[in-house]
Amino acid sequence: MTLPGAPSLARVRGALQLDGHALDDLARRYGTPLYVYSRPSMLRALAAYQRALQGRRHLICYAMKANANLAVLQALAAAGCGFDIVSGGELERVLAAGGQAGRIVFSGVGKTRAEMRQALLAGVRCFNVESLAELDTLDAVAREQGCRAPVSLRVNPDVDAGTHPYIATGLKANKFGIAHDQALHAYRHAASLPGLRVLGIDCHIGSQIVQVAPYLDALDRLLDLVEAVEASGIPLQHVDVGGGLGIAYGSEQPPDATELVAALLARLDARGHGARELLLEPGRSLVGNAGVLVTEVLVPKPGVHKNFCVVDAAMNDLLRPALYEAWMAIEPCVERAGPAPTWDVVGPVCESGDWLGRDRALAVQPGDHLAVLSAGAYGMAMASNYNSRPRAAEVMVDADGVHLVREREQPGRLFEGEHLLPGPP
Ligand SMILES: *Cc1c(COP(=O)(O)O)cnc(C)c1O
Repeated sequence: MTLPGAPSLARVRGALQLDGHALDDLARRYGTPLYVYSRPSMLRALAAYQRALQGRRHLICYAMKANANLAVLQALAAAGCGFDIVSGGELERVLAAGGQAGRIVFSGVGKTRAEMRQALLAGVRCFNVESLAELDTLDAVAREQGCRAPVSLRVNPDVDAGTHPYIATGLKANKFGIAHDQALHAYRHAASLPGLRVLGIDCHIGSQIVQVAPYLDALDRLLDLVEAVEASGIPLQHVDVGGGLGIAYGSEQPPDATELVAALLARLDARGHGARELLLEPGRSLVGNAGVLVTEVLVPKPGVHKNFCVVDAAMNDLLRPALYEAWMAIEPCVERAGPAPTWDVVGPVCESGDWLGRDRALAVQPGDHLAVLSAGAYGMAMASNYNSRPRAAEVMVDADGVHLVREREQPGRLFEGEHLLPGPP
């Protein structure tokens, strides 16, 4: 199997390297658990989308919830990327990293009035609106501010993305979007509100999608609506097909960005919508394979039924295995000779669900470093302080060097902002 993350990730004389930097050395220098990201890998993933869209009106909006580290945002913004945000906090972050408001779309099923005001003031490109009630609220907020809010309606196309139920979002049973058969009514309503400017149509059918077909089904459903909406006298500028393209964690064979975009453009052309601006909101596919989580082996614990390899990273650092039973490759940072028994690689958190990998053949000793691969998306972004565990440090590597892009949290600072009750302790 080629390493997910190649060519940035490679094994050289037994040592796992990211862009030429040995992960074992980085672990010694910065401590563990440690997230390591490859800037070249992220930029290559972005460039694949950009090349495929060359010559077409388009905007790529990185769904920053996948990995919101400032340096990640900075690197992508500098390469011309826009952003898909889901909160006021993300808006602040992306502006602090040098992102342009005019390249930001604001998604999410529950925006507060304060977030709407903040985004209007910043001048975001578009609000992806998910309900009639949200249209009314946004209209009122925009009129209070004496402006018109640019909107796109997120439609639920009712297609099955064929992914994990927690990350399928385009089915009628999901909380997301406006039902397809209510969308025309919603557009008429939006067009009647003086505080809104109708800009486009949007969907997002799920995450870790490994086929092109669900995208084409969703696009067809969107284009049916575009035609109906425009026939009713409401012109639309753009079609936003959301994000969701999967990556290879192991044996998956998702289409690459080139293949997905070519299929989408061909369908737009075939239906006579070739001139329409296409928006995409990739998250995982830009950063997922560009990152690894490095952890240290604390105690190998052979048992009667199972062997447990306890490491210093846990579900609070990387939730995907515990939350989705996700399989992620685990590789030794330095290969060790000798027998490789089968282990469940688990963290120190007090939950039986706290595991990073099950049944992995590994030759390990205490103090060895292991790397969990493809951890660049929904890794640090979903990290918590459960068990009062400080969150990991993050570094970014490229051909020139290593940059500490987030310091390791200090345990004593985790309870800053908490207050003891008055009276004797
Ligand atoms: C999460 C999300 C994305 C990105 O999904 P990926 O699977 O990471 O590509 C895009 N758009 C919206 C609205 C999302 O919620």
